Amino acid sequence: MSASVRELAELSGPALSSTLTAESIVVLPVGSIEHHGSHLPLATDLIMADEMSVRAVDQAAAQGLDVWRLPPLAYTKSDEHDWAPGTFWIGADELLATLRGIGRSLARTPARTLVLINGHGGNVAPLGVALRELRRLHGLRTFALSVAVPSSPEESGLGIHGGWGETSLMMHLRPELVSTRDFARAIPEGLTDYRHIGFAGAPVQFGWLSVDFGHDGVLGDPTGADAGAGESIAADFVRLAAESLEEISRFDPAGSG
Ligand SMILES: [Zn+2]
Repeated sequence: MSASVRELAELSGPALSSTLTAESIVVLPVGSIEHHGSHLPLATDLIMADEMSVRAVDQAAAQGLDVWRLPPLAYTKSDEHDWAPGTFWIGADELLATLRGIGRSLARTPARTLVLINGHGGNVAPLGVALRELRRLHGLRTFALSVAVPSSPEESGLGIHGGWGETSLMMHLRPELVSTRDFARAIPEGLTDYRHIGFAGAPVQFGWLSVDFGHDGVLGDPTGADAGAGESIAADFVRLAAESLEEISRFDPAGSG
Protein backbone atom coordinates (compact mmCIF):
# COMPACT_ATOMS: atom_id res chain seq x y z
CA MET A 1 0.00 0.00 0.00
CA SER A 2 1.28 3.50 -0.69
CA ALA A 3 2.59 5.68 2.10
CA SER A 4 1.65 9.26 2.85
CA VAL A 5 4.30 11.91 3.38
CA ARG A 6 2.51 12.56 6.68
CA GLU A 7 2.70 9.22 8.51
CA LEU A 8 2.42 9.93 12.25
CA ALA A 9 3.83 6.55 13.30
CA GLU A 10 7.04 7.18 11.35
CA LEU A 11 7.98 10.04 13.71
CA SER A 12 9.86 9.36 16.94
CA GLY A 13 7.98 10.03 20.17
CA PRO A 14 9.91 13.23 20.96
CA ALA A 15 9.58 14.40 17.35
CA LEU A 16 5.83 13.86 17.57
CA SER A 17 5.63 15.93 20.76
CA SER A 18 7.53 18.83 19.22
CA THR A 19 5.78 18.62 15.82
CA LEU A 20 2.11 18.29 16.72
CA THR A 21 0.16 21.27 18.02
CA ALA A 22 -3.42 21.86 19.18
CA GLU A 23 -4.19 22.67 15.54
CA SER A 24 -2.93 19.32 14.19
CA ILE A 25 -5.51 17.02 12.62
CA VAL A 26 -4.96 13.28 12.97
CA VAL A 27 -6.67 10.94 10.49
CA LEU A 28 -7.40 7.31 11.37
CA PRO A 29 -8.37 5.13 8.37
CA VAL A 30 -10.95 2.49 9.35
CA GLY A 31 -11.30 -0.56 7.10
CA SER A 32 -12.57 -4.12 7.44
CA ILE A 33 -11.53 -7.65 6.50
CA GLU A 34 -14.70 -9.25 5.22
CA HIS A 35 -16.25 -11.38 2.51
CA HIS A 36 -16.88 -9.34 -0.66
CA GLY A 37 -18.06 -12.13 -2.99
CA SER A 38 -15.82 -14.01 -5.44
CA HIS A 39 -14.69 -10.95 -7.40
CA LEU A 40 -13.17 -8.75 -4.65
CA PRO A 41 -10.56 -9.37 -1.94
CA LEU A 42 -11.37 -9.59 1.75
CA ALA A 43 -9.36 -6.41 2.36
CA THR A 44 -11.47 -4.31 -0.05
CA ASP A 45 -12.71 -1.85 2.59
CA LEU A 46 -9.28 -1.64 4.22
CA ILE A 47 -7.59 -0.90 0.89
CA MET A 48 -10.17 1.78 0.06
CA ALA A 49 -9.86 3.51 3.46
CA ASP A 50 -6.07 3.24 3.43
CA GLU A 51 -5.48 4.50 -0.12
CA MET A 52 -8.12 7.21 0.02
CA SER A 53 -6.80 8.52 3.33
CA VAL A 54 -3.23 8.67 1.95
CA ARG A 55 -4.40 10.76 -0.99
CA ALA A 56 -6.69 12.96 1.11
CA VAL A 57 -4.02 13.66 3.73
CA ASP A 58 -1.37 14.43 1.11
CA GLN A 59 -3.79 16.73 -0.74
CA ALA A 60 -4.78 18.57 2.45
CA ALA A 61 -1.12 18.87 3.54
CA ALA A 62 -0.20 20.27 0.12
CA GLN A 63 -2.90 22.90 0.71
CA GLY A 64 -1.21 23.92 3.96
CA LEU A 65 -3.13 21.97 6.60
CA ASP A 66 -1.29 20.40 9.53
CA VAL A 67 -2.72 16.92 8.98
CA TRP A 68 -1.27 13.51 9.84
CA ARG A 69 -2.24 9.89 9.24
CA LEU A 70 -2.28 6.99 11.69
CA PRO A 71 -1.86 3.38 10.48
CA PRO A 72 -5.26 1.96 9.50
CA LEU A 73 -7.55 -0.07 11.72
CA ALA A 74 -8.12 -3.32 9.82
CA TYR A 75 -10.47 -5.39 12.00
CA THR A 76 -13.84 -3.82 12.70
CA LYS A 77 -17.56 -4.60 13.01
CA SER A 78 -18.43 -6.96 10.15
CA ASP A 79 -20.83 -9.29 11.94
CA GLU A 80 -23.21 -9.19 8.96
CA HIS A 81 -20.61 -11.36 7.16
CA ASP A 82 -19.84 -13.65 10.13
CA TRP A 83 -21.24 -16.62 8.19
CA ALA A 84 -18.56 -16.29 5.50
CA PRO A 85 -15.06 -17.80 6.00
CA GLY A 86 -12.46 -15.07 5.59
CA THR A 87 -14.38 -12.44 7.52
CA PHE A 88 -12.32 -11.36 10.54
CA TRP A 89 -14.45 -9.15 12.73
CA ILE A 90 -14.73 -7.73 16.21
CA GLY A 91 -17.96 -6.71 17.94
CA ALA A 92 -19.37 -3.20 18.27
CA ASP A 93 -18.33 -3.19 21.95
CA GLU A 94 -14.78 -4.25 21.04
CA LEU A 95 -14.56 -1.62 18.29
CA LEU A 96 -15.77 1.03 20.70
CA ALA A 97 -13.20 -0.10 23.29
CA THR A 98 -10.43 0.04 20.66
CA LEU A 99 -11.44 3.54 19.58
CA ARG A 100 -11.61 4.63 23.22
CA GLY A 101 -8.01 3.46 23.61
CA ILE A 102 -6.85 5.25 20.46
CA GLY A 103 -8.61 8.44 21.58
CA ARG A 104 -7.09 8.18 25.05
CA SER A 105 -3.65 7.84 23.42
CA LEU A 106 -4.23 10.76 21.08
CA ALA A 107 -5.26 12.91 24.04
CA ARG A 108 -1.74 12.41 25.46
CA THR A 109 -0.29 14.22 22.39
CA PRO A 110 -0.66 17.94 21.65
CA ALA A 111 -3.24 17.15 18.89
CA ARG A 112 -6.92 17.64 19.70
CA THR A 113 -8.66 16.60 16.49
CA LEU A 114 -9.38 13.04 15.30
CA VAL A 115 -10.91 12.31 11.89
CA LEU A 116 -12.05 8.78 11.00
CA ILE A 117 -12.00 7.94 7.27
CA ASN A 118 -14.17 4.84 7.05
CA GLY A 119 -14.37 2.26 4.28
CA HIS A 120 -17.08 -0.02 5.71
CA GLY A 121 -20.80 0.76 5.98
CA GLY A 122 -21.26 -1.53 8.99
CA ASN A 123 -18.99 0.76 11.01
CA VAL A 124 -21.07 3.92 10.58
CA ALA A 125 -23.26 3.38 13.67
CA PRO A 126 -20.46 2.39 16.13
CA LEU A 127 -18.19 5.17 14.83
CA GLY A 128 -20.96 7.67 15.54
CA VAL A 129 -21.09 6.43 19.14
CA ALA A 130 -17.29 6.68 19.40
CA LEU A 131 -17.24 10.30 18.18
CA ARG A 132 -19.38 11.37 21.13
CA GLU A 133 -17.56 9.17 23.66
CA LEU A 134 -14.16 10.64 22.72
CA ARG A 135 -15.59 14.15 22.77
CA ARG A 136 -16.98 13.62 26.28
CA LEU A 137 -14.15 11.53 27.77
CA HIS A 138 -11.13 13.36 26.38
CA GLY A 139 -12.39 16.68 25.02
CA LEU A 140 -11.28 15.74 21.51
CA ARG A 141 -12.83 17.28 18.43
CA THR A 142 -14.05 14.21 16.55
CA PHE A 143 -15.28 13.70 12.99
CA ALA A 144 -16.01 10.82 10.61
CA LEU A 145 -16.51 10.53 6.90
CA SER A 146 -17.05 7.41 4.84
CA VAL A 147 -15.58 6.64 1.44
CA ALA A 148 -18.61 7.23 -0.78
CA VAL A 149 -19.10 4.61 -3.49
CA PRO A 150 -22.03 5.51 -5.77
CA SER A 151 -24.53 3.01 -7.19
CA SER A 152 -25.12 2.61 -10.90
CA PRO A 153 -28.68 3.22 -12.22
CA GLU A 154 -28.95 -0.56 -12.80
CA GLU A 155 -28.61 -1.25 -9.08
CA SER A 156 -31.97 0.26 -7.96
CA GLY A 157 -30.19 1.95 -5.04
CA LEU A 158 -29.12 -1.48 -3.75
CA GLY A 159 -25.46 -1.50 -4.78
CA ILE A 160 -24.12 -1.43 -1.26
CA HIS A 161 -21.63 -4.30 -1.04
CA GLY A 162 -19.37 -5.48 -3.85
CA GLY A 163 -21.41 -3.53 -6.41
CA TRP A 164 -20.52 -1.26 -9.32
CA GLY A 165 -19.00 1.62 -7.38
CA GLU A 166 -16.87 -0.40 -4.99
CA THR A 167 -15.70 -2.74 -7.74
CA SER A 168 -14.82 0.17 -10.06
CA LEU A 169 -12.83 1.83 -7.29
CA MET A 170 -10.92 -1.41 -6.63
CA MET A 171 -10.22 -1.81 -10.38
CA HIS A 172 -8.57 1.62 -10.16
CA LEU A 173 -6.70 1.01 -6.88
CA ARG A 174 -5.67 -2.65 -7.11
CA PRO A 175 -6.75 -4.15 -10.47
CA GLU A 176 -4.67 -7.29 -9.89
CA LEU A 177 -6.96 -8.20 -6.96
CA VAL A 178 -10.24 -7.98 -8.92
CA SER A 179 -11.57 -11.11 -10.63
CA THR A 180 -13.58 -9.76 -13.56
CA ARG A 181 -14.67 -13.27 -14.66
CA ASP A 182 -16.58 -13.61 -11.38
CA PHE A 183 -18.74 -10.52 -11.94
CA ALA A 184 -22.43 -11.39 -11.39
CA ARG A 185 -25.53 -9.29 -10.78
CA ALA A 186 -26.74 -9.73 -7.18
CA ILE A 187 -29.59 -7.32 -6.53
CA PRO A 188 -32.30 -8.26 -3.99
CA GLU A 189 -35.05 -7.08 -6.34
CA GLY A 190 -37.78 -8.06 -3.85
CA LEU A 191 -36.75 -5.22 -1.53
CA THR A 192 -38.09 -2.67 -4.01
CA ASP A 193 -41.61 -3.98 -3.23
CA TYR A 194 -41.51 -2.32 0.20
CA ARG A 195 -42.30 1.38 0.57
CA HIS A 196 -40.94 1.96 4.06
CA ILE A 197 -38.51 -0.84 4.91
CA GLY A 198 -35.01 -0.49 3.48
CA PHE A 199 -31.34 0.28 4.00
CA ALA A 200 -29.93 3.51 5.45
CA GLY A 201 -32.22 6.44 4.69
CA ALA A 202 -35.46 4.42 4.60
CA PRO A 203 -38.02 5.17 7.36
CA VAL A 204 -37.87 1.59 8.68
CA GLN A 205 -34.52 -0.11 9.19
CA PHE A 206 -34.13 -3.86 9.54
CA GLY A 207 -31.51 -6.12 11.02
CA TRP A 208 -29.85 -8.05 8.21
CA LEU A 209 -27.07 -10.47 7.50
CA SER A 210 -25.50 -10.45 4.06
CA VAL A 211 -26.54 -14.08 3.58
CA ASP A 212 -30.24 -13.13 3.94
CA PHE A 213 -30.50 -11.99 0.31
CA GLY A 214 -29.49 -15.25 -1.31
CA HIS A 215 -26.66 -13.90 -3.46
CA ASP A 216 -23.43 -15.13 -1.83
CA GLY A 217 -23.34 -12.03 0.33
CA VAL A 218 -23.00 -9.52 -2.51
CA LEU A 219 -25.46 -6.64 -2.80
CA GLY A 220 -24.90 -4.93 -6.11
CA ASP A 221 -24.12 -5.37 -9.76
CA PRO A 222 -20.41 -5.25 -10.61
CA THR A 223 -21.00 -6.00 -14.29
CA GLY A 224 -20.02 -2.83 -16.13
CA ALA A 225 -17.57 -1.74 -13.44
CA ASP A 226 -14.41 -0.20 -14.86
CA ALA A 227 -11.17 1.38 -13.71
CA GLY A 228 -11.95 4.73 -15.37
CA ALA A 229 -15.13 5.10 -13.33
CA GLY A 230 -13.13 4.08 -10.27
CA GLU A 231 -10.55 6.77 -10.97
CA SER A 232 -13.21 9.46 -11.00
CA ILE A 233 -14.86 8.04 -7.85
CA ALA A 234 -11.44 8.27 -6.17
CA ALA A 235 -10.84 11.82 -7.40
CA ASP A 236 -14.30 12.93 -6.23
CA PHE A 237 -13.70 11.43 -2.79
CA VAL A 238 -10.21 12.92 -2.39
CA ARG A 239 -11.58 16.36 -3.31
CA LEU A 240 -14.47 15.97 -0.83
CA ALA A 241 -12.15 14.72 1.91
CA ALA A 242 -9.57 17.48 1.41
CA GLU A 243 -12.32 20.12 1.46
CA SER A 244 -13.78 18.46 4.56
CA LEU A 245 -10.41 18.52 6.34
CA GLU A 246 -10.12 22.23 5.60
CA GLU A 247 -13.62 22.79 7.04
CA ILE A 248 -12.74 20.65 10.08
CA SER A 249 -9.62 22.80 10.68
CA ARG A 250 -11.81 25.86 11.29
CA PHE A 251 -14.95 24.17 12.64
CA ASP A 252 -16.47 25.95 15.62
CA PRO A 253 -19.93 24.70 16.62
CA ALA A 254 -20.54 27.80 18.77
CA GLY A 255 -19.39 30.24 16.09
CA SER A 256 -21.28 31.77 13.21
CA GLY A 257 -19.45 29.71 10.54
ZN1 LIG B 1 -16.93 -3.14 1.06
